[in-house]
Formats: sequence, C-alpha cells, structure tokens
Amino acid sequence: MSPADTIAVVGSINVDLSAQVARHPQPGETLHGRGGQMTPGGKGANQAVAAAKLGGSVQMIGAVGTDAQAEVGLSGLRAADVGLDGVREIEGPTGLAIVTVAEDGENTIVVIAGANDAVDAAQVTASREVLEGAAIVVCQGEIPRDGIEALPALVQGRFLHNPAPVMELDPAVLRASDPLVVNEHEAALVLAQLTPEMDPPQQPELIAGALRAAGIASVVLTLGAQGSLVADSDGTHRIPAAPVTAVDTTGAGDAFIGALAVGLARSESLPVAARFASRVGAFAATGHGAQPSYPGSEDQLPQLDGAGA
Ligand code: ADP
Repeated sequence: MSPADTIAVVGSINVDLSAQVARHPQPGETLHGRGGQMTPGGKGANQAVAAAKLGGSVQMIGAVGTDAQAEVGLSGLRAADVGLDGVREIEGPTGLAIVTVAEDGENTIVVIAGANDAVDAAQVTASREVLEGAAIVVCQGEIPRDGIEALPALVQGRFLHNPAPVMELDPAVLRASDPLVVNEHEAALVLAQLTPEMDPPQQPELIAGALRAAGIASVVLTLGAQGSLVADSDGTHRIPAAPVTAVDTTGAGDAFIGALAVGLARSESLPVAARFASRVGAFAATGHGAQPSYPGSEDQLPQLDGAGA
C-alpha cells in the first residue's frame, strides 16, 4: 500500500488480565481462580492489529504507561508492524482490563483507562500530519471526549467512527462519521443523542435509516451472528455472517472494524468492504482472545453464504 492508503487508528492500548472462576465472587468474598495471563488488548490496538495483519499500512496514535505492562500492550502492535511514532509514554499505569470469566460463560470486565486518558485533543492535534495524510482515520470510545472531538477537523479521508463505549459527543462529531459502525445497543444510544424526541426503532433497517436521517452519511450496524447491515447513499444492504462455529467472540467486532478499514483503504465500496469484514469477524470468533484470534492472511478466511466474497 502507498502512504496515501494509510490507516490511522486513534484509540486505546490496554493489557487484558484474565481470570477464570467457577462463579463470580459476591461483594466481600474471595475466590480462587485460574488464568492470570496478560495479553495485549484495547479496542484501538485490537483494530490496528487486525488491519495490519491483513496487509493494511497502519499508524497507531495512543499512549501507554511507564510500567512493565506497557510492553505487553505494545507487543501485538509491534508484531503486526504497526507504526508507533504516535504512541506516547505517560508516567503511570498502562490501560488495564480485568476480565473475569465464569464457567457459565458470563464475564465481568473492569477497565482502568490509565495512560489512555492522556490521548486528548493536544495529542491528537500533535499527530496532525499523520491524520491529514490518512485515507482512513479510525477511532472508538476508549479515549477522552476532547481527543475524539478534535478528529473531524483533521480528517481528510474517511472517518470510521466506532463509538464504543458510547459517550456524550458533539452531534457534529457523530455526523462526521462515514461510516459510523455500531451494534444495536450503541446505535440506540447514538440515536438518543441525535434525536432525543424520537421513539427508537427496533428493526435494523429502521435503526440505520434513522441514523442516516439524523445526518450520518453511512452506517454499518453489526448484528453478531446475524451479520451486519450497511446503509449509505447507494441504499441498504444486508451482509450475511460467515457460518462458523464460534468459540469466543471477544474482539470479533474489533476484527470486523480493522478489516473494514482495510477494505475502504483499498477504495472498496462500503458493502464490499463489509463483506470482507464479515469473513474476518467470523474468523476471529473461531479463536480464543482478541488479537491472537486475528487472521494473518486472507487465505484463512471463511466464505460468506451466497455469491461473491
Ligand atoms: P460487537 O462485539 O461490537 O457487538 P458483533 O458481535 O456484532 O460486534 O460482531 C461484529 C461482526 O463480527 C458481526 O457483524 C459479524 O459479521 C461478525 N461476527 C460476530 N460474531 C459472529 C459469529 N458468532 N459468527 C459469525 N460472525 C460473527
């Protein structure tokens, strides 16, 4: 890919600390668990790694702490050859997600933002050159509000916005998304911000249509094992999920977004890029964890039902 095809990911870099327990502890209770592995995570890093492993030329803009965990957080990005010039080191802890998985599959997650809290408007603006030169700028909701709100003024390519978790944002920033990539829960929260007086629709087609009517040029609504729905000025398209046996869907949404960015950086239309992303998201659901479950080449990907890929 030429520099003009660069994907810039502005977002979180975390370390995931996982514990497996028979059941979740009650308040005040201590339980024995298993696990204790520390693996690289954070939505921003996951999406950057997914895109780079698929051949994208990716620059990360984010922050890690000065603790020993920083290297764990960066390990997947380094292995995937993601550019790290835009990653700052901030005195204090690296972002940490403490994940507890019970035998029934139910999990609880505590996220400590740590250094990710430093990815503010000043840091984003300091990466102006990378952002202005990128074909696609990707961001999520795990950095401060002013860091996200500084982006649209700097983006000259497409702003792939995945507001997860959803926070209160300037409506103009939500409307700059092209595409906005959300699941149904996030879509409802974004719609409530843009059109608080409206009764929220339930049907995916109506949800995507309402987001477009509220001023968002293109929308990708992800629907888990039901696939996704793409809506832009060319119409509304259902994208099937690739039929796989899912073992762990952690990070499947991030893999989908990384792949979507790669497709768009290759100048594919949004439905074509979403079909590619659907195959990548499904592949990620067949392996454990987030970054370790991401494909290293397109040959590994499952096919979608129906014609074409
Ligand atoms: P999130 O985790 O952000 O809610 P989703 O669960 O909707 O995201 O997953 C994102 C995409 O990954 C889906 O639109 C789909 O294409 C793919 N995907 C997720 N889970 C599965 C699954 N069990 N089987 C096949 N594809 C899946």
